[in-house]
Amino acid sequence: MSFQAEAVVDLGTIAANVEALAGRTSAAVMPALKANGYGHGLVPAARACLDGGASRLGVATLDEAMELRNSGVAAPILAWLVAPGLDLAAAVDADIELAVASREQLSAVADAGARHPARIHLKADTGMGRGGAPRAEWQTLVDLAAKAQADGRIEIVGAFSHLACADEPGNPLTQSQDDNFRDFLDLLWAADVQPQWQHLANSAGLLAHPDTHYNLVRPGIAVYGYPPVATEAPLRPAMTLRARVVLVKTLPAGHGIGYGHTYVTKRPTRVAIVPLGYADGIPRSTSNRAEVLVGGRRCPIRGRVSMDQVVVEVDEGDVRAGDVVEFFGDGDITAEDWATWHDTISYEILTSIGPRIPRRYVGKNT
Ligand SMILES: *Cc1c(COP(=O)(O)O)cnc(C)c1O
Repeated sequence: MSFQAEAVVDLGTIAANVEALAGRTSAAVMPALKANGYGHGLVPAARACLDGGASRLGVATLDEAMELRNSGVAAPILAWLVAPGLDLAAAVDADIELAVASREQLSAVADAGARHPARIHLKADTGMGRGGAPRAEWQTLVDLAAKAQADGRIEIVGAFSHLACADEPGNPLTQSQDDNFRDFLDLLWAADVQPQWQHLANSAGLLAHPDTHYNLVRPGIAVYGYPPVATEAPLRPAMTLRARVVLVKTLPAGHGIGYGHTYVTKRPTRVAIVPLGYADGIPRSTSNRAEVLVGGRRCPIRGRVSMDQVVVEVDEGDVRAGDVVEFFGDGDITAEDWATWHDTISYEILTSIGPRIPRRYVGKNT
């Protein structure tokens, strides 16, 4: 198999991760597939999730939802981040469910149903302070939604909210958000609205806060093998990022490496030039910090990460052009290590792997 740089995605691992997550809850599972399936490839990752037992799929944008539908994915799909002015009628026609958090959004989706009413999930802000209707607007939104449903203009299939701090075990916000979510559901019951799905938990909620499961959970990062909290669930990283050495050479002592000469060799140094750079999602901030695996051994990146390439110090010996260098995967170096080097979270590392890198699918479902 010839390649210069590639992201190998094990679809069997994604399916097994979903199965492991489903085993930790009695709720149905709606994996988050936004941002190209956290970098793994939207459609293949979605199919792997369904193989693993997911019954519905969650995405951010309408484009993501339509791409799934147009690729023949038949499962229910919820899009939860949709700006005004988009073609909601086409979305409703394609059976895409839409999140609604304001009266403006409510009237837009109510107007969009043609063949059948729009299927919506009401979204409450229970404490995150980002999306969702603020508490002061809950009653109005519920009343208007109840009326629109009674008029046959919408079908309220879900009510949901999102957790802000569920990855911090002792943080009291999670309990408070859960209490608030119950209040929101009470308002719905009181208005005689009983949506089929109630959902609050992300990966951290699923793994660490069983009270937040209700009857549907929305794991994202854990599906791809990076649990945001300590867990015994057998979750494995699904993506391996690798590239082939382009050139190997020895630099003399005292020789600078890369832009700005931020590293200077202390002795004659064997280096490998490897064709992945910041344009591919290798953070430039990891210059002179990160390590990669060459022949299974950890080797340091020397000098700056360039747009297209990095320089890696390798041992004297048998590293050759064409050898495979692993940046991260299900081994000694994971995306979590890169997150530490870049002072971020694994989510950002995975979703930053650029479009220049082909995804190659292995495992079930290829
Ligand atoms: C991204 C997202 C999720 C998944 O979050 P993870 O932390 O990756 O599990 C769930 N729900 C919503 C609304 C999201 O935006």
